[in-house]
Amino acid sequence: MSRFIDFKLNKQIINALDDLEFAKPTPIQKEVIPKVLAGNDVIGIAQTGTGKTAAFLIPIVRKLNYSQGEKPRCLIIVPTRELSIQVQEHFQNIAKYTDLKIVALYGGSGKSKQIEGLNGADVIVGTPGRVLELYTERHLYLKSIQYMVIDEADMMLDMGFLPQVNRLLEIIPSKKRQNLLFSATMSPNAKKLTEDFLEYPFIVRLDSDNKIPVKIDQIVYYTSNFKTKVNLLESLLTKKDFEKVVIFLRIKGDANNLFKFIQRKIDSEAAIIHGNKEQNTRLNAIKKFKEGSSKILIATDIASRGMDVDHVSHVINFDVPSNADKYVHRIGRTGRVFSVGQAITFCNPAEKYFLKKIEDQINSKIKALPIPSDVDIPETPLEEKKNYDRLIDFQKQKENPDYKGAFHKKKKKSPKNSKKKFK
Ligand code: ADP
Ligand code: MG
Repeated sequence: MSRFIDFKLNKQIINALDDLEFAKPTPIQKEVIPKVLAGNDVIGIAQTGTGKTAAFLIPIVRKLNYSQGEKPRCLIIVPTRELSIQVQEHFQNIAKYTDLKIVALYGGSGKSKQIEGLNGADVIVGTPGRVLELYTERHLYLKSIQYMVIDEADMMLDMGFLPQVNRLLEIIPSKKRQNLLFSATMSPNAKKLTEDFLEYPFIVRLDSDNKIPVKIDQIVYYTSNFKTKVNLLESLLTKKDFEKVVIFLRIKGDANNLFKFIQRKIDSEAAIIHGNKEQNTRLNAIKKFKEGSSKILIATDIASRGMDVDHVSHVINFDVPSNADKYVHRIGRTGRVFSVGQAITFCNPAEKYFLKKIEDQINSKIKALPIPSDVDIPETPLEEKKNYDRLIDFQKQKENPDYKGAFHKKKKKSPKNSKKKFK
């Protein structure tokens, strides 16, 4: 069995890991740490919540050893400001008994403090946009970088950061630089990025894409309409074992509305994060939730990717995400590393189609539970019912262009229509 002391780490790091109560390395850490210590380029692919951050931070802290108080030697690129801060904190915890200094660079917040922080920083963690900006303005020296990490590569590409990442790779001298890349999934685009970025990398791949940690108990409630979802949520949230809940919605407008409802009717301390919120509001929301003063966090997919919050007891998908990747990311907020969790999905008639696709891709059937008897199930309003029918038709037509649809009036096929099929 492997332990942290079996790696060539020093006392400072071992003590810090003790303080963090990291008793043993996670599987990805077991594989990655020795390879990075030996100087290899490494690609690490493992599902979310498996400890990828420490897998690169531990050997990097070891290799940097102590501050040289000059130019930065390590650059870590992450896709969001929340992740910049999260990685910064993680680094500070692991490097707490060293004099190594880290600075986090991210947009949506003043530059002058960050520029000040660059003074004497050994490590930079930041979003590609802000890092490039400060480089272009000559606040940042990058020629001294010896270790470069791209974290959450799949998300970086999803968010359209490829041009900025490529630009950074051009700027930083590749000679004698050690490169590491981490991702929860490996898309064809991510693969292309690794080809440009790494040299003869070791590939550590611990899980196939879309695998769900076994510790997560998955449940679905089939709800006939929107109001039933709201009633069900209210009923579930007032039950006492829901200690720390993240509620996901696809669209920020819906998230805002639900947030207001929850604040009014269930918990005035609830918090929300989504892309449009002010930087400080978002950080505050995460902080309140982490510390436990909020026990309900409402989030959209983009705002929450990679976010690490301990001991989330439940994830509730108020709507079904549009693909399996997003589903896996959402429910990965619970059951992280060595704890257990439950993921509950609310599924309306039109969403069944997506849920079925997700089940196919994750290769498991999500357990359906009956709606508890205390939950009121009102009639579906006609307009809502029509909407579902329309969506279902749309999905069926996408799969089979000949499908005429139960909802739409059947039209005679015009030459224009039949042409469409070939587009
Ligand atoms: P990933 O990047 O793979 O999604 P993180 O690096 O964010 O996962 O880690 C998830 C959580 O696991 C964090 O709270 C982290 O502190 C914790 N963790 C990491 N390594 C260990 C370990 N060896 N033992 C216990 N907890 C760990
Ligand atoms: Mg991560």
